[in-house]
Amino acid sequence: MKIAIDGPAGSGKSTIAKEIARRLNIIYVDTGAMYRALTLKLLNENEIDYEKILADTKIEFKQGLIFLDGKDVSQKIRTNSISNKTSELSKNPLIRDFLVKLQQKISETHSVVMEGRDIGSVVLPDANYKFFLTAKPEERARRRYLQQKEKGYEVSYDDILNDIKERDFNDSNRKISPLTKTDDAQLIDSTNLNYEETIEKILSYINR
Ligand code: C5P
Repeated sequence: MKIAIDGPAGSGKSTIAKEIARRLNIIYVDTGAMYRALTLKLLNENEIDYEKILADTKIEFKQGLIFLDGKDVSQKIRTNSISNKTSELSKNPLIRDFLVKLQQKISETHSVVMEGRDIGSVVLPDANYKFFLTAKPEERARRRYLQQKEKGYEVSYDDILNDIKERDFNDSNRKISPLTKTDDAQLIDSTNLNYEETIEKILSYINR
């Protein structure tokens, strides 16, 4: 079974997709984490030949953690600066091609809940179920603000909102694989739904 969940930054995709995968007892693939891990690598390289770097790159998921060339980078990829640089680098066709192939390979051998920006449109066009999860930018910023504060970070709501709007713009307006809702994807607007309600709504389509 292949389930695709796409949507903008801060829409709750990761938390929701992870829980759906847990309840269905299938694998969860966070493709954003793959773009982030690759960005982390490219920022630390002097080499500018991307093809050469990619030929020598290994990205794997193990027990909910992401490993870049054998090292756990799950924490390192979550900074704001990596978020913004990832949004820039993910426009690169070489990078997209490399990661899309890797994502398709994972889904060939496993049932998956895969989340990202181009899963229903490019990575798994033949997915059994497709969802486009979104919420108003202000609500997404509010959730992220509370989440960060809870973790003890000093953050500004306005900075988070600006960052979300900028990433929405970049992700939706790039030439290759922009963030879009495909016609066959179910739109889930979670602005007025809580966590459990969102999960129930998605599962109701799957269990139909
Ligand atoms: O999902 P997350 O916010 O972690 O993704 C980080 C960035 O990676 C996004 O802003 C987007 O630019 C890029 N991305 C992408 N395609 C995907 C997943 C993420 O371009 N399938």
